[in-house]
Amino acid sequence: MELHGIGASAGISIGKVLKIDSAKLEIKRIDNINPQDHLAQLASAIETSKLEISKIKDITFEKFGNEKAAIFDAHLLILEDPEIKSQVEAFINDNKVNASFALKSVMDNFITLFESMDDEYMKERALDIKDVFTRVLNHLEGIQIVDLSLLDEEVVLVADDLTPSQAAIMNKNAVIGFLTDKGGKTSHTAIMARSLEIPAVVGLDTITSQSENGSTVVFDGKNGDVYLNPNQELLSHYKNLKEKELKEKEELFKLVGVEAKTTDGFKVEVAGNIGSFQDLDSFFKNDAESVGLYRTEFLFLDRDSMPSEDEQFEEYKRIIQKLDGKKCVIRTLDIGGDKNLPYLKVEEEENPFLGYRAIRICLDRLDIFKTQLRALLRASVFGPTGIMFPMISSLEELNAAKEILNECKTELNNEGQNYSSEIKLGIMIEIPSAALMADLLAKHVDFFSMGTNDLTQYTCAVDRINQKISHLYNPFNPGLLRLIKMTADGANKAGIDISICGSMAHFPELIPFFIGCKINKLSMSPMHILKTKRNILNKNQADCEKMISNLLNLETAEETKNFLEKFIEDKK
Ligand code: PEP
Ligand code: MG
Repeated sequence: MELHGIGASAGISIGKVLKIDSAKLEIKRIDNINPQDHLAQLASAIETSKLEISKIKDITFEKFGNEKAAIFDAHLLILEDPEIKSQVEAFINDNKVNASFALKSVMDNFITLFESMDDEYMKERALDIKDVFTRVLNHLEGIQIVDLSLLDEEVVLVADDLTPSQAAIMNKNAVIGFLTDKGGKTSHTAIMARSLEIPAVVGLDTITSQSENGSTVVFDGKNGDVYLNPNQELLSHYKNLKEKELKEKEELFKLVGVEAKTTDGFKVEVAGNIGSFQDLDSFFKNDAESVGLYRTEFLFLDRDSMPSEDEQFEEYKRIIQKLDGKKCVIRTLDIGGDKNLPYLKVEEEENPFLGYRAIRICLDRLDIFKTQLRALLRASVFGPTGIMFPMISSLEELNAAKEILNECKTELNNEGQNYSSEIKLGIMIEIPSAALMADLLAKHVDFFSMGTNDLTQYTCAVDRINQKISHLYNPFNPGLLRLIKMTADGANKAGIDISICGSMAHFPELIPFFIGCKINKLSMSPMHILKTKRNILNKNQADCEKMISNLLNLETAEETKNFLEKFIEDKK
């Protein structure tokens, strides 16, 4: 069976399907059972759950440290809670009903009790109770639990969508692909897949209903083609493609250590985008020169409350220290749009991408903004750091953000806490108003980084995660390229650094355009770095610059794309 989705993370994958979140837990009441048998089953299910949670705790500790692992200590305590245990045992003995039904009844009572409490903290414990005892119930019902951290066989994960915490905890050696019903090219599942270098196709709509656990699937994470239960011919075709891909990778790794310069000496810094400490593995493997975009929001997602100043400080410090002198551009919280923090309790909006998000939230919620800025400032003493504000649409916003940054500096000075005096300050150019006045904004910052994912969305008025209109989300739209050129000119005239950090940064056809605009830094998912280097090494800056005036007179996206492809071909 053939399906077609959105290629989100390039690469060929051939493997067995493992569906997650697929089993539905339906507990039936069975009367007149033998209580002794069911008490024994309950004890065994609790014991198995205990072993699993302990294992997950150890893995979490290794990957994320004590703070995150402590959640699982709490889960172990809940599992052994004497009150819950004695109530379930009494329920089985008194009513002679099956262990699952007894456990579910007692669990539901506790959940209702905790949910009705006024205290937010106690309310959230209801979720923990559910999480822990659903595991026990699954064991009692003989339903296989997919623990992503404990996977030991190669699998292609199939899900409605994946959360960052699922991705963080999964055994990355075992997961050879993601296929999801939801998502778009720049949705956060897609970004995560690229940062993990795992091939992925998203926006498949029906992959969870059409696929079966254990069946074979082959797919191409670049063009979005997916084949369930492929025939021999298709299978060997994809095996050949996979082999070619591995050979090409080998070739590209020869470029590790080579500086990305054009034939006439124009140097382009090829940097990496990261979302967490773990992404640094791929960052170093692919020889990134610096971090051009650290999306800090991943530290805020998938948790019950805001990370404290100290927790943030420790994380930023850990990353900056690991970079060992390589520069780290850290973007302040960019939440909203398709990234929500339930604990922020933001009202639902008609147009979330045009609404309360990113710097707009930070300028409104100074408690959140200042906590992050203080943590960033304190971490800046551990290595070269840039602070970057997202979604700036006006000078007023930039000035307001700068004022708060200065307030934080004053506070730290008064407290006798250190921060680096060399921090660079930059903004994302991802809203057309900012691009149109790049020359003006350039006078007020040290660098610009162009968020072309959002700039495309706002310039072409096309929701970046809406699959129905994804054909309009076109990086070759001449209007968009004019805005990029205008921004680069503004930055270059003012003598500040200019980079691209949206997905366009690695598109091979656009490399000559960026070089022609004198954009001297491209930041991308680390998996694209070596290929991009190869695409820079064979270009001539002067030729690219000459080509641009013709390019920007073309009228359609198609003409633009063809023109760039021909330019590259002719120069080979
Ligand atoms: C962008 O908008 O291009 C960008 C880099 O930021 P994000 O994808 O996180 O919105
Ligand atoms: Mg953006």
